[in-house]
Amino acid sequence: MKPPPFGYASPGTLGEALDALAAAPGAKVLAGGQSLIPLLNMRLAAPPALVDINRVAELDTLHVGDQGVRVGALARHARVERSAEAAAVQPLLGRALRHVAHPVIRNRGTVVGSLAHADPAAEMPAVLAVLGGTVEAASARGRRTIPAAAFFRGPLESALEPGELAVSAFFPAAPPRTGTAFAETARRHGDYALSGVAAVVGLDEDLRVASARAGFLGIAPTPLVLDLTGAAGPRGDWAAAAAHVRERIDPEPDIHAGAAYRRHLTGVLAERALASAAAEALRRAED
Ligand SMILES: Cc1cc2nc3c(=O)[nH]c(=O)nc-3n(C[C@H](O)[C@H](O)[C@H](O)COP(=O)(O)OP(=O)(O)OC[C@H]3O[C@@H](n4cnc5c(N)ncnc54)[C@H](O)[C@@H]3O)c2cc1C
Repeated sequence: MKPPPFGYASPGTLGEALDALAAAPGAKVLAGGQSLIPLLNMRLAAPPALVDINRVAELDTLHVGDQGVRVGALARHARVERSAEAAAVQPLLGRALRHVAHPVIRNRGTVVGSLAHADPAAEMPAVLAVLGGTVEAASARGRRTIPAAAFFRGPLESALEPGELAVSAFFPAAPPRTGTAFAETARRHGDYALSGVAAVVGLDEDLRVASARAGFLGIAPTPLVLDLTGAAGPRGDWAAAAAHVRERIDPEPDIHAGAAYRRHLTGVLAERALASAAAEALRRAED
């Protein structure tokens, strides 16, 4: 298949990119192209123009600090996945990225592009949502920070407005005595998951569970976050939390899995991920 005709701009600075977006209403940003190009080739998208940000060096950034990890719009999945500095501050990022497609796609696709694409089956939106991260957006009109809870509006629909470019995403650091884990099941390695869970468990000074949250992908139109603190059993026992998850979710069937199977699977994955996150929290607390 061939894409419909489109205009093309290849700006060298962020300012030029924002001007190009403002000049062509309905234009799409081209980052890694791993989702956009297939949509164009299948003629499921027909934007009047593409604004290719691959020459904008100021967007090719990965900043790691005590507060968290800020990923620039041109940072590829692979760079973030392999960053030891990012893993030390927020290990959930790299853990989830290893489940995104195949290495060749991760070499090109971007973390911020994945968030902007807002696929409910994708890993990065669930990670941003469970961590309570943010997306920094810029347009010719100015800048704003969008919390994850307001960013994902529906399948392939984000809160980005026409003319806005997602400049970076911020993933908060893991606090002390906190552990994270990621679990998913796909039909084949590298496929989008049937269901997936990103878990974050925090312990108090007496090493009791103080907080437990899980972000889910593949089971709702947007990333779903559940607070499971009250459902946490004694450490190592997350069966009650898994039962709670099964009660709270309402997955849709599709050609790959029925609703009942997805519900069961999600509970199993949640129990595993929460147990693993709690074990890591304990290890970190005892270090
Ligand atoms: C075979 C295959 C398997 C895949 N499997 C998975 C998977 O298992 N899990 C997963 O999460 N992903 C998967 N992907 C998608 C991959 O992770 C993409 O790279 C990612 O979703 C989008 O990133 P990108 O940089 O390629 O964005 P692009 O394809 O360039 O853009 C995607 C969309 O986001 C918009 N966009 C991109 N960047 C910005 C920005 N900075 N500001 C505003 N809008 C922007 C574009 O306009 C477009 O609408 C797969 C892709 C392929 C081809």
